[in-house]
Amino acid sequence: MVAGRTCEKDQRVLEKNDSFLPPGDPPLTPSGSQIPVARPSEPRVLRPRRAAPGDAIRPTRAEVNLAALRHNLRVVQKYSGGAKVWAVLKADGYGHGAPAVARTLERAGAHGFCVALLEEAIELREAGIFAPILVMGGYYPNAHAEVIHRNLIPVVYNEEHLDGFSRASRLLGSSRALPVHVKVDTGMARLGVTMDNIEGFAEKLKARGEVEVSGLMTHFGSADAENVSDVEAQLLRFEEATLRFAEVGIRPQVRHAANSAAVFRKEGLLDIVRPGIAFFGVSPTLPDGSPLTTELQTVMRVRSEIVDLRTVHEGSAIGYGGLWRAKRPSRIATMPMGYADGLSRHLTNRGHVLVRGKRAPIVGAVSMDMSMVDVTDIEGVSMRDEVVILGGQEGVLGSDSISVDEIAKHCETIPWEVLCAISRRVPRFYREP
Ligand SMILES: *Cc1c(COP(=O)(O)O)cnc(C)c1O
Repeated sequence: MVAGRTCEKDQRVLEKNDSFLPPGDPPLTPSGSQIPVARPSEPRVLRPRRAAPGDAIRPTRAEVNLAALRHNLRVVQKYSGGAKVWAVLKADGYGHGAPAVARTLERAGAHGFCVALLEEAIELREAGIFAPILVMGGYYPNAHAEVIHRNLIPVVYNEEHLDGFSRASRLLGSSRALPVHVKVDTGMARLGVTMDNIEGFAEKLKARGEVEVSGLMTHFGSADAENVSDVEAQLLRFEEATLRFAEVGIRPQVRHAANSAAVFRKEGLLDIVRPGIAFFGVSPTLPDGSPLTTELQTVMRVRSEIVDLRTVHEGSAIGYGGLWRAKRPSRIATMPMGYADGLSRHLTNRGHVLVRGKRAPIVGAVSMDMSMVDVTDIEGVSMRDEVVILGGQEGVLGSDSISVDEIAKHCETIPWEVLCAISRRVPRFYREP
């Protein structure tokens, strides 16, 4: 079966199963730009912006398995006890395409979403997401009114935030206080009210009738450390902060702290959990490399095809700088994926891809748009054979898979970076297998 065809069919399945019908083309403004269509009174549309099969001419693409995504939500829910699940979908849903991921998770029972940027939150609202959306980055230069207008929940931790939201709220003539979540720095030293400043900030909050603290949050710095003593120290400080806010009359309805690693260790589950990477099938690991869970399923598969194939003599140099030389007469395949697509240049002469169900090493420098693979040991290899860069492949020579962890190790980085790095040049196809 031709893979492109499969995707096209799957995409149609996705749209047909969607209970919200497309309303036709949205109206055009005089400038020609489209008016956002996501208003509660209107039907919701899911058109993952990178999923149009006709857009993919180059055979390099990422397939996102929506059933695996739902499976991972169920695993997260199981570990989270009664806590609500607010999925963290920053950085375009860890590279999977935030709108489609959010729509899938919302319908499968996620209670809310968290993003880093206001831009990311707006993208989710425009994709028709109704669930609460928390904007965690704390950066709203002159866009406070936009936060209110889009019904987003901002994270606040300094006076500038309070000034901005109070002013915007008055300007908009809002009749009710804006719910905000206050972030406390309990030991990560990145964002949040410091423990020294809790009473000072609490007084400022109380002086602002325009905002209401509906949530209190913190973030763990080392939830994947060998033992949980750092997490527990942060949790103790969070309890203390909660009490100190309560003493001056600030009692938020919800508190949250747990990222994926904390969820799987059942630490700090509180009222809401905020996992991210877990949805994408990657378990955080302990320093010794052991995963905190083995129940997750991989969501993304990145595949391409052999677009050129040659036999080279012993001693031939491959690619820029001749960083690999053939030790024997070799078959070298070229695949159209390079570092501009998110295939790290660190994989030069390292790492593998799958061809016909068997591993083949990446040889020579990964270049911007292409890379070479030594397929000498792949029997019967030919042009247009599928190359799997990430995920599984079943082929005539066997079946194997390349994990995000494996790529991360070769690149001396973490799985989070590997997933976010898959660039927008690689179209995402959403599949309901
Ligand atoms: C990224 C992030 C998360 C999710 O972390 P994972 O390790 O991907 O589960 C949770 N909270 C905050 C504040 C984050 O920045």
